[in-house]
Amino acid sequence: MNKSKIKETLGDVFGIDTFRHSQQEIVERILDGKHALVLMPTGMGKSLCYQLPAVLLDGLTIVISPLISLMKDQVDKLQGMGVDAIYINSSLDKDEREKRYDQVAQGKYKLLFVAPERFAKPEFLQVLQDRNVSLLAIDEAHCVSQWGHDFRPYYKKIDEFRKQLQEPTTIALTATATPHVRKDIIEQIGLASEDVKIFNEGICRENLILQVEEPIDESEKFEGILQKLQETQGSKIVYFNLIKSIEKFAHFLDLKQYQYLVYHGKLESSQRRRVQQQFMQGSDDVVLATNAFGMGIDKPDIRLVIHAEIPDSPESYYQEIGRAGRDGKESECVLYYVEADLGVQLNFLTWKNPDAVFIQKVYTFLKKNEEILSSLSYEDIQEKLVFKNRGDQRLQTALNVLQYQGVISGSLENKNVQVLRDLPEILQTGEYTQQKAEFDRKRLLSIFQYIKSDCRRGFIHSYFHAPQVDCNRCDRCA
Ligand code: ADP
Repeated sequence: MNKSKIKETLGDVFGIDTFRHSQQEIVERILDGKHALVLMPTGMGKSLCYQLPAVLLDGLTIVISPLISLMKDQVDKLQGMGVDAIYINSSLDKDEREKRYDQVAQGKYKLLFVAPERFAKPEFLQVLQDRNVSLLAIDEAHCVSQWGHDFRPYYKKIDEFRKQLQEPTTIALTATATPHVRKDIIEQIGLASEDVKIFNEGICRENLILQVEEPIDESEKFEGILQKLQETQGSKIVYFNLIKSIEKFAHFLDLKQYQYLVYHGKLESSQRRRVQQQFMQGSDDVVLATNAFGMGIDKPDIRLVIHAEIPDSPESYYQEIGRAGRDGKESECVLYYVEADLGVQLNFLTWKNPDAVFIQKVYTFLKKNEEILSSLSYEDIQEKLVFKNRGDQRLQTALNVLQYQGVISGSLENKNVQVLRDLPEILQTGEYTQQKAEFDRKRLLSIFQYIKSDCRRGFIHSYFHAPQVDCNRCDRCA
């Protein structure tokens, strides 16, 4: 494709004068019909790498994204620029979904956003039957990998889906992927590694100032966080692992008469929306949040991201601090570590990694209750199989694993779980889950290596095998 046409579309449609980093090379490669895996820090401009080709290519571009809550915003933004984009996901009612199916089938739209769960629907594949799909964009591609920190079983179906679409040009994008995960992404999508060019755009934006604090106890930690909040002008997020910890810190702030917002997954959705809206529009709010606060937080001027408790991995940490300073201005990322917080992460590790006995228990339950599965909710089964503990995610993980291994299909949410086959040996022996647990333990250990590292940026770069850069921007180097 002619370069001046690309440049012209960049300006006319996207209102952007110059490409950042490798964007141009990536766009040209995609327009040439070649595959790419793009590793780029959050906020640097991954979307342009598939949106610009989507506008220029003749056929349809399908964007696979796990973030249903973000799709509407992404599509609104594109429509606002005059791009013919649409999304189809479970948030639509049946009539609207069918209307969109029909429009897509009739050749309307250049960009279609879907969640991976959509491929499991034969009617969706039917809709695409007569469409020329020029490009498949896989956003948050680390979800493809079972070793990624955010694995989604339906991502495994991308390979099959891609084949049904006659193997279109494919671009996978993520902010975080270790070499192990990169390799797995390429394999799982069904590409040959020699056909995929990896663009590694470094990882940690220069404007982020990285710090670690090790207070002796919780009270010193609370005082330290408050001081940091008071010193910092602008929007701020304080992340916690547990709602209980948010409540404790909120009580401390109440006593100090310091104002704050609260956000976590157990709030009513209307309240969550209200808090998110206030934070997005405000310029000096503090939100105390669990990691449920994140999707859709594309606010340019967040000046401080504090982790009041240690995250489970460099991947999660990196993703969460990626919300700071998207406008390129200096912003601080402070991680607080006190030993007592470790216990929670160790519990999480157990809950995230059910052993073979538990998986067998879930399987037996599903098999025995096959006839009535459509009437059971996640909570019903949770109540039967797990001691009532809200943090215990073993059931969810076991269901993911069973789905990944092709033992079950469907989901409890969609009321269409089916048992397809016997439990394979790899799950009976526990080999699979042991490997996964070991992997998660290593990741948690890496957080300690970060805490003890000589240079925070250096550590993150080497963890993700990104090119090393001069730092001068962390508490160790400054
Ligand atoms: P990511 O997906 O990598 O987190 P986005 O694609 O959402 O980031 O881009 C972040 C912001 O940067 C968006 O507002 C986008 O319009 C802007 N952006 C992307 N590329 C460029 C560029 N070359 N020049 C200026 N702004 C850009």
